[in-house]
Amino acid sequence: MIEKYRENFPDQRIYEESVIEDAGLLYFMIRDQLESFLIIMSERKESIDLSYEGELNQLGSMYFLKCEKNQHNAGLLRDRFPFTKAVLIGKNNSFGLGDRLGNAGVAHLKSICKTTFRPVLAQQSIRELQRTNRTAQEVMDAASWAVFQNGFKSGFGADGDHLKTEEDIDLMAEAGYTMFTIDPSEFVVNHVMELSGDELQKEYSELPWETLSRTPDAIFEAYSDRDFLLSTGKIDGVSEIMLMRSMIKYGRVITHTKKLSDYLKNRYPNHPAELELSVDETDEPTTPFEHYLIASELDRLGVELVSLAPRFCGDFEKGIDFKGDSEQFKREYKLHLAIAEEFGGYKLSIHSGSDKFSVYKAIGSLNRGSVHVKTAGTSYLEALRTIAEADPKLFREILEYSKERFKEDKKTYHITGKPSDIPPDEKLSDDDLRDLLDDDHARQVLHVTFGSILNGREPISSGFKERLMHCLTLHEELYEKNLESHFDKHLSPFSDA
Ligand SMILES: [Zn+2]
Repeated sequence: MIEKYRENFPDQRIYEESVIEDAGLLYFMIRDQLESFLIIMSERKESIDLSYEGELNQLGSMYFLKCEKNQHNAGLLRDRFPFTKAVLIGKNNSFGLGDRLGNAGVAHLKSICKTTFRPVLAQQSIRELQRTNRTAQEVMDAASWAVFQNGFKSGFGADGDHLKTEEDIDLMAEAGYTMFTIDPSEFVVNHVMELSGDELQKEYSELPWETLSRTPDAIFEAYSDRDFLLSTGKIDGVSEIMLMRSMIKYGRVITHTKKLSDYLKNRYPNHPAELELSVDETDEPTTPFEHYLIASELDRLGVELVSLAPRFCGDFEKGIDFKGDSEQFKREYKLHLAIAEEFGGYKLSIHSGSDKFSVYKAIGSLNRGSVHVKTAGTSYLEALRTIAEADPKLFREILEYSKERFKEDKKTYHITGKPSDIPPDEKLSDDDLRDLLDDDHARQVLHVTFGSILNGREPISSGFKERLMHCLTLHEELYEKNLESHFDKHLSPFSDA
């Protein structure tokens, strides 16, 4: 059947990996000019499922339905082919592959397929949904289509990232996400070191002891003035005063996590769900003792984690390599790992994980435990690298506008790059543009302004997204090649070490 289709439409690209035969029907994806479609083909007109939205065509003695990649059809696809539905990834090594444009999934899968890592494709925080003007469902649909087009049948996860409320959980559960990253950062009390003795006593006594189902004394008994021996080292004991500070800092983090975990279990008892806890967005690095305390208390409260994201030492700035002491990172990582082993062997999760090559190398060299790495912006930068090569004029416009937006857009980000360190437009030849994507300043300026570029709220930016998507579709192979080799670079340090 497919040969017949190919003969009749020589100008279309058939995505060979997508071809599936199922109950006498042939399903596959094609690209026709600038759009891709799902084709359902049969020799018998009546066997084609017309609940898909599409156009029925005849080809000699055969029939085919040409279906748009819309939400309705994505839903039917997931019912028919369960491998296009998100599943649990468990405590296996995994890689989070955020895809802000919704067209990077196929290349992501090509790279991940060469490794033992499991993919988490739809990785989406609420904040990012707002910035990119997308819905949680759209992001999930893009992942399902990518998986189908790639013929990837080993299962992918979907991560509702940085969820803060019950409503956030609802949104993600209803769209079929399976990994729920709880972000209780609003409950971290950062000023504990400034508290006087009396204030300390007062805040400690006001902790939500009932929800913790502990007495203040029981906490002292469990944690103060004792060392914790772990498989890869020892955590030094803390005094009662330091323990009180840690409990004040993280007590409500623990209870809020418990509350959201219970909500998820009770509200969606049959929904496959795994829980990550992220405390990465705090002012100071998470000490091994703080990690131990949080993990131990959550364990006691029956909260099961698949992964936990501490705030590590050093700087994890967006879009560039780790800045800091790799040896110190490695030492502390080993202790964090031992804590994770002690409480169920959950994964350590690396947020702002894009381009942290020296961290991957350090983790790879330990050859121990499991890891989850979250990336997102780096794929957008590979899209821009493709634009720099294929449409220098558009790239220059995006760069100029990004420089203009930078001051406002960088506010919520942790970065040091700045526009003044990027050579002015007139000094850049078209060949230089590509190299800008390897320059830390340019990478960060382009990285933090993605929302302004993609949401097109101002007249000057209104056409950016459409032109960008158009160019990426025209140069699909180049874009895929850029993404694939970039992610090969991300993944290989874990096994090279
Ligand atoms: Zn994070």
